[in-house]
Amino acid sequence: MIGLDFDNTLVDYAEAFRAEAARLDLGRVSTKTEIRDCLRLRAGGEIVWQKLQARVYGPGIAQAQMMQGARAFIDECIRRKIPLAIISHKTRYAAQDPGGVDLRQAAREWLGRQNIGIAHENVFFEETREAKLNRIGRLDCRYFVDDLSEVLLDQQFPPTTQRLWLTAAMETPQPPIDAAGDWFQIARYIFVS
Ligand SMILES: [Mg+2]
Repeated sequence: MIGLDFDNTLVDYAEAFRAEAARLDLGRVSTKTEIRDCLRLRAGGEIVWQKLQARVYGPGIAQAQMMQGARAFIDECIRRKIPLAIISHKTRYAAQDPGGVDLRQAAREWLGRQNIGIAHENVFFEETREAKLNRIGRLDCRYFVDDLSEVLLDQQFPPTTQRLWLTAAMETPQPPIDAAGDWFQIARYIFVS
């Protein structure tokens, strides 16, 4: 079993973040990290940032793309009969948008539109990071791919799962993590090694 994170691992929200940056008139700022860093410097910026994320991961998913190379990776897993699971820390509602958009429903609808071969029952949205890590352990994932190094470095991370950090910035990973700049590198790492 190979486990995949969802937001910013399988789903590329770049367009939705760009649209939000333009809406807030943030000048040259356009990526997720730039927006976060820019807003956090302002008084009350953390709340603005959380509300922005509620919009991006809710209605913004309509503009989101599949991360480049992810479809080819999934197709190759299916061809090799390697089971896949999506395991994501995703609450039903954003803390800054209670009772608003059902984030899990929006995510499942997006997955449905992508028409990839991951069965509904292999998609897990968990309430907490701890529950996500437990799920990775219970499914006995051989590999897990995530864009957040703090998830992969968590004390509770199952020790027998190999940790693959998807990081476009190509930061140097801290053991026992291995890093990959994109899905093509992840495919090489898993299928060629
Ligand atoms: Mg993520």
